[in-house]
Amino acid sequence: MDVTLLGTLGWMPRDARETTCFAVREGPVLFLFDAGTGLRRLLDQPHAALLDGASEVHLFLSHYHLDHVCGLAYLSGVLPGRELVLHPPAETLTGVDPVAAVSELVRRPYNPADLADMRNVTVRPAGRENEVAGHTIRLRPQQHTDTSVSFRLDDELVVATDTPPDPQAIAFARGAGLWLHEAWYWADDPGLRDLPEPLRRGYAAHSEATAVAGLAAEAAVGRLILVHLNPLSDESAHLAMRDAARATFPRTDVVDDGTVASTNAAV
Ligand SMILES: [Zn+2]
Ligand SMILES: [Zn+2]
Repeated sequence: MDVTLLGTLGWMPRDARETTCFAVREGPVLFLFDAGTGLRRLLDQPHAALLDGASEVHLFLSHYHLDHVCGLAYLSGVLPGRELVLHPPAETLTGVDPVAAVSELVRRPYNPADLADMRNVTVRPAGRENEVAGHTIRLRPQQHTDTSVSFRLDDELVVATDTPPDPQAIAFARGAGLWLHEAWYWADDPGLRDLPEPLRRGYAAHSEATAVAGLAAEAAVGRLILVHLNPLSDESAHLAMRDAARATFPRTDVVDDGTVASTNAAV
């Protein structure tokens, strides 16, 4: 299974990186995880080819923070006329009514059309375990400033963004080929010094990289790619964070937007 990382930053896009969006094409089905600004990369080759011959598109949302859903405003341009199934997390997982939440995000006057008027979009909330086109997608609630969910697609891929490192994620991720896990900073991050108080609070809702690497080692995943990177850190800081994580889990990477990563660690 191949995963295309269409957006690897959190919060806001920068020149080289968009906000969170990951794509998996399996036969006629395209799975998308989160609709950050990275969704727009499906307009450009080679990523546009992910749509060729795709008869089903399933878009899963981890939560409703704008950096993960702003791409919903692009749907009519990026996926014009395509049947799309939107899977926000079920209320039993997050405490948030998913139909009300996505309807709030896509409605006038913030969007030219209401979600209910977009006839090609079907909303189907996702519970703890879902069968979609022959694949099993599991969801797990996570602590965040508002509850988010992580995803497990078969035994191949786990996506965990917008969460502090959580030991309970180990069992959920165990043995997966590839774990995409957020990392916002690392313990010796020089950026932690002189951090203004409003930013410091945000750090608590996100992950420290060496702790994430520890979870990956415990879960014995094939490979860890750090995502939802901090847009206030530069590329050299992202690589320093990766190196710090590698001391705990050597198969840790930070990759460019547009990278196609196999869930088979041997590839
Ligand atoms: Zn985020
Ligand atoms: Zn968030």
